[in-house]
Amino acid sequence: MRFIVRYAYVVCALFVMSSYNNVAGQQSMRQKTNFELTSSLYAWEVHDEGIENILDNLSIAGINSVYLISPMHRERRPFIEGFPDGRQTYFFPHNPVRKEWMIEDSRVYHFPDMSMYGKIKPVQSDYKWLSDTNWLDVVIKAARARGMRVGAEVSHTYLSQSLMDQNPEWRQVNLDGTPGTNPCVNHPDVQEYLIALYSDLSKNYDIDYIMTCMYVFSGSAATRTTTCICPYCQEKAKSMGFDLTTAIPIMRDNAMAYPEVEQFTKFREDATTEIYQLIIDNMRKHNPRIEFRLNCLNNWNTGLNLARLTSHIGSVHMSTHQEQQGNPNTQRISRIRSVRHYVGPEIPILASVTTRLLSTPDIIRTMIKQSVDGGVQGIGIKHYDGTPFSRLRAVRNGLHENGVEGFSPILGIELETDMILKGFSRDFFLTENGVKLTEPEGTAWSSFTYQSGKYDIAITYTDEKQVKGSLEVLVGGRQVAKWDLTEDVDCWRRKVIPGIDIKNGEEIKLVASSSNNSIADKTVRVDFIEFIPK
Ligand SMILES: [Zn+2]
Repeated sequence: MRFIVRYAYVVCALFVMSSYNNVAGQQSMRQKTNFELTSSLYAWEVHDEGIENILDNLSIAGINSVYLISPMHRERRPFIEGFPDGRQTYFFPHNPVRKEWMIEDSRVYHFPDMSMYGKIKPVQSDYKWLSDTNWLDVVIKAARARGMRVGAEVSHTYLSQSLMDQNPEWRQVNLDGTPGTNPCVNHPDVQEYLIALYSDLSKNYDIDYIMTCMYVFSGSAATRTTTCICPYCQEKAKSMGFDLTTAIPIMRDNAMAYPEVEQFTKFREDATTEIYQLIIDNMRKHNPRIEFRLNCLNNWNTGLNLARLTSHIGSVHMSTHQEQQGNPNTQRISRIRSVRHYVGPEIPILASVTTRLLSTPDIIRTMIKQSVDGGVQGIGIKHYDGTPFSRLRAVRNGLHENGVEGFSPILGIELETDMILKGFSRDFFLTENGVKLTEPEGTAWSSFTYQSGKYDIAITYTDEKQVKGSLEVLVGGRQVAKWDLTEDVDCWRRKVIPGIDIKNGEEIKLVASSSNNSIADKTVRVDFIEFIPK
């Protein structure tokens, strides 16, 4: 199976070469096979939302691949750091247990096989509810049962700051002599740990790929904070024929001192290439079919040379998140071109499509068009945890509009724009546009404009604490579902009503009631009625 997938990628990629500057219509033809739509998952959201519920929600976009991040770096989720948005504070839109989560520093969320590790051991969460379950296993089992691809990600940082404070020799050293932020891959303990981590994941888990966006070196050329000049790097450089020890004072004195700066840059590239090759060679010893997916962070000048890694990497994922600021960004086009330039025609490229923060359905469609026109073989949703359902719908619609096979358009009705409303008003709640109930009872009508047939009906709505009410759905005057809002979860929910026969032209009616709405703006909210053909 894997061979077939790879062969299809090669065929696709050869087509890229032969039509590099062709029009979009022709380019979209090569997308018709094995297009991968993947999403990250985090252990806490799998705990909170449940894996089956998450995969159901991601099916809105047509997801066919997922990966669990283990280890994950410290960060507030949903992501907001350094984000200049005065409009709102971001919270998880569909997590029924918590509104936000401050992630612990560099913890793993699988059960590490400690016998594979040397001096440095992976660290699990301090929270029992996170450390007592093998979350990677949970994700793999559920994804496989649905026939999906599945992977793991090693995120930006893999050793915590506190571990490096206790063992400062593991830490990188900046050119000016100050301690760096990340561990140095030229320290033998760190190298041993990385090989063990990737080997553990490759050997003990039924995964198709390991993605990485770990930081290797920092800074460009010879700035104050360019890394690394630690004793292990000096020793390593000497063995490679570069006297880094003598070059350090020269580069501190003159950031353009050649050939030292050129030699230092080459050394960082050699070391980066070597660590990736070592990791991948060891992964393959345990699982010859596993794919190494390198996340290109647009960090070429830190030592990344994709051309030198094409013999080893299986695919390249690109983190292009600029659009989360709320504006289209054409950097995506040049970055896809850059990656293709260095990896050649055979390596699949996946571009991220940011669905969080100020991204919009229109911007998502633009991102997908630019990515598909640029010749990618897949898309990564960034990230499910902060993504309202409307943007998952935009992903599927964008893929369909751009001719990617296997992605049919979303069929459904927006309450705020497509229905006649009584007792509701327009509303914005947890990053989602919808309507809210303003009277004890509200009704929304529309007629069914699609082909007659059997459909699952999915309703997105909220079920807040303090709200006592119910929702009812009628098709052609027949009640097909009615449920009380008793979950008290303060977030968006999605209820699927299975197997309903609907005729073209029939009336679709939604009735919401609440005996105590508008207490501190808590009321019944509804956004979308989706029809999923059976
Ligand atoms: Zn170093």
